[in-house]
Amino acid sequence: MKWLGRRQSDNVEDRRGVSGGKVALGGGVIGIIILLLNVFGGETGQTVGSALEQMQGGQQQTEAAAPLSKEDEEMGDFVRVILADNEDIWSKIFEEQGITYKNPKLVLFRGSVETACGGASSASGPFYCPGDQKVYMDLGFFEELKTKFGAKGGDFAIAYVIAHEIGHHVQTLLGTSAKMRQAQEGKSETEANKLSVALELQADFYAGVWTHYNQKNLDTDDIDEALSAANAVGDDAIQSKMSGQVVPDSFTHGSSEQRMYWFKKGFKTGDINQGDTFAEIR
Ligand SMILES: [Zn+2]
Repeated sequence: MKWLGRRQSDNVEDRRGVSGGKVALGGGVIGIIILLLNVFGGETGQTVGSALEQMQGGQQQTEAAAPLSKEDEEMGDFVRVILADNEDIWSKIFEEQGITYKNPKLVLFRGSVETACGGASSASGPFYCPGDQKVYMDLGFFEELKTKFGAKGGDFAIAYVIAHEIGHHVQTLLGTSAKMRQAQEGKSETEANKLSVALELQADFYAGVWTHYNQKNLDTDDIDEALSAANAVGDDAIQSKMSGQVVPDSFTHGSSEQRMYWFKKGFKTGDINQGDTFAEIR
């Protein structure tokens, strides 16, 4: 992605150099299970955060604040540019629909973080909290995406994930998230999961729409990087990797194929009105 020298957003809260206080031990097996529950896309970190604390049984230690390396600083600048691109593009799309876009904040953290949705750790993967309208991410996630989940990596994998989380912000502003949670009430777990999948796939679709309007800044590999990330975090890909079994009824984010399909559809059309994943899940 061409990003050097471009506008950087002021809406990034960089808490990486700040001591996170408590950090969960043993990211290994437990971390992976948690990631399985919530891999980037979970709308809130609440359940995951508290589940993690329960599982850890108070096994925590204090994390020392580490200064940011040159590479960390550069990653921060990259995230600021991607967020600025999201601000510009979504403001314009909302304006065309006659509504006002409100910029979300993006919090970079390490280890653990406090949010309006409760405490969360890096193991939750990146997420959006509607309660404070902030995206939370530990950039260490992208290393795991490559090493544990076999994604190709690259800067646009990060851009895709940020755009997906901003997609949840868009859904919050448009009222889709609230409607979906209402619709989940009283439904069976399988039915509730289907609604969750629709919400997640729509966030992938919005990431594609954002990419559509950002084409002048794309490098040749960028779409492949996004699709490889979407492929790696499909529920079927994660489940078969973790347990060797795939249980579609338990999907909460959609299969690899669905996630790639909706990203591509958003990218091709650039039309937010064609992203009704609730009406047509494929
Ligand atoms: Zn999501």
